[in-house]
Amino acid sequence: MSYQAPLKDMRFVLNELAGLSEVAKLPGYQDATPDTVDAILEEASKFASEVLDPINFSGDQEGSIWKDGAVTTPKGFKQAYKQYVAGGWGALPFGPEHGGQGLPKLVATAVEEMLTSSNMSFSLCPLLTQGAIHALELCGSDALKQAYLGKMIEGTWTGTMNLTEPQAGSDLALVRTRAVRHGDHYKISGQKIFITYGEHDLSENILHLVLARTPEAPEGVKGISLFLVPKFLPKPDGSLGERNSARCASIEHKLGIHASPTAVMVFEDAVGYLVGEENKGLSYMFIMMNAARFSVGLEGVSISERAFQGALAYAKERLQGRDLVGGGGGAVPIIRHPDVRRMLMLMKSQTEAMRALAYVVAAAMDFAQKTQDMKHQAFVELMIPVVKGWSTETGIQVASLGVQVHGGMGFIEETGAAQHLRDARITTIYEGTTGIQAMDLVGRKIAREGGATAKAWLGELKKLDAKLSGHPEIRKALADGVKAVEECVEFIVGSKDPRAQFAGAVPFLTLMGIVAGGWQMARAALAASKGTGDDSFDKAKIATARFYADHVLVQAPALRNTVVNGAAGVMALSEEQFLAA
Ligand SMILES: Cc1cc2nc3c(=O)[nH]c(=O)nc-3n(C[C@H](O)[C@H](O)[C@H](O)COP(=O)(O)OP(=O)(O)OC[C@H]3O[C@@H](n4cnc5c(N)ncnc54)[C@H](O)[C@@H]3O)c2cc1C
Repeated sequence: MSYQAPLKDMRFVLNELAGLSEVAKLPGYQDATPDTVDAILEEASKFASEVLDPINFSGDQEGSIWKDGAVTTPKGFKQAYKQYVAGGWGALPFGPEHGGQGLPKLVATAVEEMLTSSNMSFSLCPLLTQGAIHALELCGSDALKQAYLGKMIEGTWTGTMNLTEPQAGSDLALVRTRAVRHGDHYKISGQKIFITYGEHDLSENILHLVLARTPEAPEGVKGISLFLVPKFLPKPDGSLGERNSARCASIEHKLGIHASPTAVMVFEDAVGYLVGEENKGLSYMFIMMNAARFSVGLEGVSISERAFQGALAYAKERLQGRDLVGGGGGAVPIIRHPDVRRMLMLMKSQTEAMRALAYVVAAAMDFAQKTQDMKHQAFVELMIPVVKGWSTETGIQVASLGVQVHGGMGFIEETGAAQHLRDARITTIYEGTTGIQAMDLVGRKIAREGGATAKAWLGELKKLDAKLSGHPEIRKALADGVKAVEECVEFIVGSKDPRAQFAGAVPFLTLMGIVAGGWQMARAALAASKGTGDDSFDKAKIATARFYADHVLVQAPALRNTVVNGAAGVMALSEEQFLAA
């Protein structure tokens, strides 16, 4: 089953929900005209289905291979990466100063979704590179920018993010890698694990952004600095010089994303350059992580779309059972059965809701970057853990439904449904687990500011209420959802016990996600009711929004109860009781 980009829905979300025409009026985005954006979407969709999709399954079967410190990516990846660079895809969202195309994040997001849907393993290399570019753009010295950004934006050099160490995963305060000043640079020593595309054969150079400590640095997160450690040290003219002492000791054997090499990196007095100031590394890394967290959230959307397309195609072809009404003939395609329809609608409606939320957040990122109005950044900060946590958890459920629709064939590798589920499984773990996202949401984004941004956002949702009079079921489910979030925000802000706040953090994140998704589906139903010029699309959108309200949004009050009342049960057993059991 080959991937086809869902261009109709993407265009609908870009234009009707995310406000592409308003984004295009922001300074510097004048090139994002409807014609240009359309041409980009068409080209990206061709690249995704003609170049990346054909090497997705084979890449999974073959995997990347490590030998003597070098990594060979699966057949076709090198050629595809060359085409990625030639197409200028990596340059899309970056400023023209270093060769970027200066297009809005919103447009780049739609392209990113296509690349990830068609080949998630491949897409991780650009994802990490874009995060590194972003960090250098915002925190690097002019000399670093001059030396590295051009090649990275072009794609001939790629970037990585080196945070994790064996003893430092979620808790980066435990990072031990050392950085000792040596003239104009630092000598970096230590071991990093799980480094995505830490070594590979796609680009001529790899630039590692590494978290490390200087000898005098304070303990904990306040003593972490960020360094740029190139695989090859560039000469002043930009050509490649000496090989740095940063090497890949091995790569991991893992559940999914087999084509994406996950490297153990060893640094032995490797030459590194300080990014920004000493001891401020973690805040710089957060810049990279926010971009990466958004992108991983988008992976949830992308895998869901891909899994849905596979399941739909199979459901149209697989013949089993008789029609419930007027049956009696032969076996019918399973898409006729209500329960199969239910699964397909769960997949479709949640995918569309997640896509809409992600694109709306991408548009807010554009507004935050180009205007002084702080409300956009506040909204982005509130929603990053939701996009990351909710879309990835839902992505796994959708990929799992994809296996279910295929029946036994879903469990067999050759249909590809199993690969989507295996690939999706990492998304709730890297870039901060769902638990970590939920604590960020509850602690930093809600409790710390007395729920101000969340309440302002809920105010926006309430404005929809009267407009939804023509869609009573959606109206009621959304109103119940808003009330549920409101009560949870009050509970979180009012609670004096952090354990009680955090015990319900993940259910609260889920609640925020399904209500934010319901918000977008309600807006989608309203836009479709006005008519977009495509009658069949509009009808399907309204029906999908109604389904989402009845099957997904309706869970909001129960989640509210879990958040507010569930803490007692979570902490009920003492550690001794757990151990005794
Ligand atoms: C395929 C893959 C690719 C990766 N790519 C990169 C990369 O490119 N760069 C990089 O630096 N890292 C990368 N990682 C590492 C990844 O980011 C970490 O695995 C992740 O942050 C979780 O850390 P951990 O594995 O040490 O789990 P732990 O931190 O040990 O967590 C174990 C469990 O405990 C929970 N937990 C931990 N602390 C708390 C807490 N304070 N409160 C509540 N619950 C908590 C977690 O939610 C989790 O459920 C990658 C990992 C994998 C598997």
